[in-house]
Amino acid sequence: MTLPMETMSSSQVRLLVLTPEYPDFLWLQSLLAADQELLPDLVWCPDLIDCDDLIRHTHFDVILWDCVFHGDSEAAFLDYLNVASNDKPVLALSGETSAERAPELMASGAADYLCRQSLDSWSLARSVKCLWYRGQLAGSAHGHLGREVASGFINRDLFFDRLQQALLRAERGGHRLALLHLNLDDFRSFNESFGYQKSDQLVLKLAERLRHSLRRVDSLMRIGGDELAIIVEKVEDSLDITQIIRKLVSALNDPVTVDGQSVVVSASLGVATYPEAGDSPENLMRRANRAMFEAKRDPGTSYRFYDRQLHITAGYQLRLEADLRNALRGNELELYYQPRIDLATEEVRGVECLVRWNHPERGLVGPDEFIPVAERSGLIVPIGYWVIEQACKRLQTSAELGFPGLVFAVNLSFRQFHDRKMTETIFRIIFNANVDTSLLELELTESAMMHDPEYAQRCLRELNQLGISFALDDFGTGFSSLSNLQHLPISLVKIDKSFVQELGHSADAEHIIRAIISLAHSLQISVVAEGVETEGQLEFLRQQHCDEIQGYYYARPMPWQDLVHFLHNRSQAACLQQ
Ligand code: C2E
Ligand code: CA
Ligand code: CA
Repeated sequence: MTLPMETMSSSQVRLLVLTPEYPDFLWLQSLLAADQELLPDLVWCPDLIDCDDLIRHTHFDVILWDCVFHGDSEAAFLDYLNVASNDKPVLALSGETSAERAPELMASGAADYLCRQSLDSWSLARSVKCLWYRGQLAGSAHGHLGREVASGFINRDLFFDRLQQALLRAERGGHRLALLHLNLDDFRSFNESFGYQKSDQLVLKLAERLRHSLRRVDSLMRIGGDELAIIVEKVEDSLDITQIIRKLVSALNDPVTVDGQSVVVSASLGVATYPEAGDSPENLMRRANRAMFEAKRDPGTSYRFYDRQLHITAGYQLRLEADLRNALRGNELELYYQPRIDLATEEVRGVECLVRWNHPERGLVGPDEFIPVAERSGLIVPIGYWVIEQACKRLQTSAELGFPGLVFAVNLSFRQFHDRKMTETIFRIIFNANVDTSLLELELTESAMMHDPEYAQRCLRELNQLGISFALDDFGTGFSSLSNLQHLPISLVKIDKSFVQELGHSADAEHIIRAIISLAHSLQISVVAEGVETEGQLEFLRQQHCDEIQGYYYARPMPWQDLVHFLHNRSQAACLQQ
């Protein structure tokens, strides 16, 4: 891995040089000065007394250590250097050749080794740069609980340093960032009943468990006896943070075993987000801390956002998710069906199955409101299978009611499509339902297919062999071209309603729709236009030989019984016309 050169030159490498002789310091300084890229900031330390103070209170990137500089033994001094400097890389310099000394020094904790006799500007600068780069990468290789927690605390300076770096990344990448300050409730009484060591074990166990509920990019640090700080990076929206809080809270709710005894802990979580709660580490920390104290007022494990609006949103999302879980169990979900009309014959070719939620208090809730929550929490997977199951049942009934050949289209979400058990589960569902699989169609978006084209190809082929067909949903909104999708078994493209609704207002929409239709037809793919509401839109699409129409112009999505009436009425009308 390489870091761009600008990163190197944009910040100076700070070096602490531990050598007793001033001429040696000057010699090392001149060797480093010869390097064009390196603009090192060197601090010379000739004796042990100054050394401790410097190491503990000044920030260095690399320590250049002359092996003659030590107290009793080299190994003990190296040990001390590593601990006191919070694991800053130590570059050891010794008179003996590397074959003699390198293994020993590296085993004692030196990060690199160079021999004085063969030392030149190039090798010294190179080693310093490598160690510096590695340090930078380790600083950004967040996501690990790291040695800090295993060994206890991380010092506040280092923590602020990490937070600062994360903030810079967030600023550069235009992301949100959340700092979570977690404090265990009533830790003093744990200390009193279990003693310091056992209580410490409890915190470590808990930290380890919490780490598992975080994403790889997040980092967890122990910043005090009963305090943890979590930096959540690359947050897109409040849903991301809510999901993490939910996981942390549920991890905290499980009892922890200490000394063979099962204990239940509760904690208070304060959340401060960048940019809402400020853009400096100090502000974020202060505000997360204040939010944490507010959370202390609520009994049990609780959380609080510094930003009031975010607090409300998070509460809403978490309630929605809990309700949705119950909805799935309590039969509150229902499928609505929207007909798709064949433009040439005016017949109903099929229906798209669209999920609705009959919320006990809020009435009918549309998918746009709950699908994102379901998707992020993973609930979309069981919901999606429920939808397929339900669609298969209706498919069966529709044939019995005298509408054979009606296609049932079901939406597959990104997450569901990437569920490892997808093909197997779908196979089981259609096998149990015993339906004509050629009447089952799955709608996928470009992003779901293009995320991992090889995987998509394999899944689509497997399901296609069972007779299931595929439609490309919301086409035109992504970046892929139809020709990219040529080798996938797609039989239908659905033009996104945003284009259809621009018809008559923008020439671009007309061009795009025309191009999609002609290209799809040249690839033997049929086209459905979605969101058709007016006669004018319909006429344009007819002229372009669009195959099918779905939209309010013909029918809105409707409950099953209404669909049955709709189908009866249309078939009666068709009979009368003949
Ligand atoms: P979609 O797949 O693009 O579904 C079409 C949406 O357009 C539906 O919204 C439908 O009611 C709406 N629509 C149809 N004709 C017209 C029209 O003429 N004008 C306008 N303005 N809208 C029209 P709905 O039912 O609210 O669903 C929204 C989205 O939720 C769907 O978009 C789909 O992405 C998702 N969704 C719905 N059901 C499911 C499901 O079972 N599973 C998954 N994963 N997603 C679903
Ligand atoms: Ca769809
Ligand atoms: Ca669509």
